[in-house]
Amino acid sequence: MRLVLLGPPGAGKGTQAALLSEKLGVPHISTGDLFRANIGEGTPLGLEAKSYIDAGKLVPTDVTARMVESRLAEPDAAAGFLLDGFPRTVEQADILTELLAASDLNLDGVLNFRVSEDVVVERMLSRGRADDNEETIRTRLGVYRDETAPLIEHYGDAIIEIKAEGEVAEINDRALAALKS
Ligand code: AMP
Repeated sequence: MRLVLLGPPGAGKGTQAALLSEKLGVPHISTGDLFRANIGEGTPLGLEAKSYIDAGKLVPTDVTARMVESRLAEPDAAAGFLLDGFPRTVEQADILTELLAASDLNLDGVLNFRVSEDVVVERMLSRGRADDNEETIRTRLGVYRDETAPLIEHYGDAIIEIKAEGEVAEINDRALAALKS
């Protein structure tokens, strides 16, 4: 199963992706986690990405897309994946489509996690990540609205809507049910 997870920052995509990954038996690939691992290890990629992440801005697409391409080429992603945090722009979505098409593949669906902005801010302020201060949160929500939200229309009929407010287990049940139907 090849899925993309969409939703604003703080929608709980990462938490849901980890649960879905276990149940569906495909890897959870989070570009944010990949960047944070690179920053932690002090790699050149991490050094390049850090200033953008700290400011709540998007890392340049060429850098991000190269990282995703090499992750998708790893053997565990051959049977499928849950992409969390990529694509974040229509340009990135087109790159992903081309990347998959080169191997005669396409996406099976795009889960869109729906949450109100109040819940999102509350969740981000409670998780205490380095880039979760109020100013950066505001920037990231703006980036989401301007650059990422248009993906909902872009993916059209492939979108599977998930109501993402409430308990983690409840949201997970909803996502699994939506995938089955
Ligand atoms: P996340 O963990 O998904 O909230 O991502 C944290 C940060 O990593 C974002 O605010 C961006 O700076 C960067 N990032 C993650 N995914 C992407 C992407 N697809 N394109 C550009 N930047 C990204």
